[in-house]
Amino acid sequence: MQDKFISEKSLDPDDWDKFKKLLHDVADDLVHYLKTVGERPVWTNLPDQSKELFDEPLPISGSEYSDVYESVKEHILPYPTNNIHPRFWSWVGGTGTPSQLIADMVISAMNSGSLGLDETASTYVEIQLLDWLKELLDYPKSSSGLLVSGGSMANLVGLAVARTHAADYDVRDQGVNIKDNPRLMYYSSSETHSCIRKAIELLGLGSQSLKLIPINPDYTINLNLLQKAIQKDRQNGLIPACIIANVGTVNTGAIDPLDELSIIAKKEKLWMHADGAFGAIAKLSKKSKKLVAGLEKADSIAFDLHKWMHIQYDCGCTLIRGNAPHKETFSVIPPYIKKFDRGLASGPINFSEYGVQLSRSFKALRAWMALKIEGADRFGEQVEQNITQAKYLTELIDTSKKLELLTPTSLNIVNFRYIDTQVKNEDTNDFNAEILMRLHESGSSAPSSALLDGDFSIRVAITNHRSRKKDFENLVNDIVRIGDNYLKEYIINQ
Ligand SMILES: *Cc1c(COP(=O)(O)O)cnc(C)c1O
Repeated sequence: MQDKFISEKSLDPDDWDKFKKLLHDVADDLVHYLKTVGERPVWTNLPDQSKELFDEPLPISGSEYSDVYESVKEHILPYPTNNIHPRFWSWVGGTGTPSQLIADMVISAMNSGSLGLDETASTYVEIQLLDWLKELLDYPKSSSGLLVSGGSMANLVGLAVARTHAADYDVRDQGVNIKDNPRLMYYSSSETHSCIRKAIELLGLGSQSLKLIPINPDYTINLNLLQKAIQKDRQNGLIPACIIANVGTVNTGAIDPLDELSIIAKKEKLWMHADGAFGAIAKLSKKSKKLVAGLEKADSIAFDLHKWMHIQYDCGCTLIRGNAPHKETFSVIPPYIKKFDRGLASGPINFSEYGVQLSRSFKALRAWMALKIEGADRFGEQVEQNITQAKYLTELIDTSKKLELLTPTSLNIVNFRYIDTQVKNEDTNDFNAEILMRLHESGSSAPSSALLDGDFSIRVAITNHRSRKKDFENLVNDIVRIGDNYLKEYIINQ
C-alpha cells in the first residue's frame, strides 16, 4: 500500500538558514528605517506603481520570502500613517518604541493564544502588567481588567458592565427590555468620543439612551445641566444608569471635573465610567497627575496603551473596580474552555469571562518589555515633555499676528487657525482646510483638524516622544507661510 503521508508538509521554511539571513536583513532595514524616520516627509501620496500591487489577484501559488519582502519594502514600508514621525500630530497617534520590535519577534515566534486559562508565561505577563497599570493609575489592586484592542473596545467593556450593574432585571437573559422596564440612561458631555455612542448602540440600549450634556467654555461638562438632566429623566420614569467622564476629550484634551462627577455619581447611585483613552496616561507624570486627580474614583476606566504610552498598535485596557459585576457581564464557560486542576488548561484566569474576545494576541509582552526597559518614570517624563511642548506651541500662536487660538490648551492638544482680515468670515473654515491639506502635501508636518463650535481648527495633538521644540517652531512658520501664499491666490480669485 502506498504511504498516503509521504507528501506531508508544513508552512515552515524549506531552508531555515536562508530564512534566518533574511530576518537579519529585515532587522537591519527596520533599524535604519526608525533611525532615519525624521529625515523623510511625514506624509506622501502612494505612487500609482505601488497602488498597482493592491490590484493584484489572489496569489494561488506562493513566491520566495525575499521577493515578497522586497515588494513590501518598496511599496508598503515607505507609506505608513507615520505616527512614528517627529512631526506627526494627527488624531491621537502613539509613536511606539524600538524596544518593542524585540517583543514583536518573540510574540510572533511564540504565537500564544493568551486565553488566561492556559497555564503559560503569557498569562502571568498580562496579569502582572494589569497590576502595574492599576498602580500607575492609582487604581485598587483588587480591580479586574484585561487588555483589549483599544479605547473603543475598552469603553464597550466598561459600559457593558455599567449596564449589568444598573438594570434591575437580568439584562443578559432578557436583552435590553424597554417594553417592560424603563430605559437606562447614560450621560456624557457633547465632546464625548464617537465610540461611546457606538458602544451604547451595540449594547442594544439605543442612542436615545445616551444624553449628551452641553459643555462649559473650557469644553468640560456642565455639571448643573448634568444634574438637571438626571433629575428630569428620573421624574419621567427613566433609570439614570451611568455617567461617562471624559479624561482628555479627543478635540481639545479637556478633562471633566472628576471629583465632582464622582460625588454626583455617588449621590445619584450611578456608575461612573471614565474614558481616559489618552488622558489617563497623564497619571504617569509626577507633575501633571493632579490634572487627572479623581480618575481613580471611577467604577471603570477605559484607556489606551497605544496612544500616550507608546505601546505598538493595538493595545487598550479596561479596569473595573472590584465587586462590580464584571464577570457576570461576560462569563460563558462551555466545557471546551473549562479549567483543570493541573496541566495546560490550569491557568489562573479565563480572560474570556471579562471581555468579548476568546483568543487574543500576546500583546501584553510589548507593554511589559517596554515598561521594564524604559521604566515607568521615563514614560511619565515623556508625557510631561509633551505637555510642556503644548504650552510652548500655545505661546507661539499667542504671539503670532496671523494665528488665533481656538480653545484653551488644557493638556496636550492645541487648536488654532490662520486669520487675516482679507479672508471673508464665511471662507475662514475652507481657507484653513486648504492650509492643512497643503501642509500635509508639503510633507513637513501632520496635524489633523477639529470642528469647534462651527469653527474649523488646525489641531495638534502631541503624543509623540520624538517631537522637539524646533518642530513646533517650524510648524508655526510653515502654516503662516502657506497661509500667506494662499492668501495671494485667494485675493486674486475674489
Ligand atoms: C482614541 C480615543 C478613543 C478610541 O480609542 P481607539 O483606541 O482608537 O479605539 C476613545 N476616546 C478618546 C477620548 C480617544 O482619544
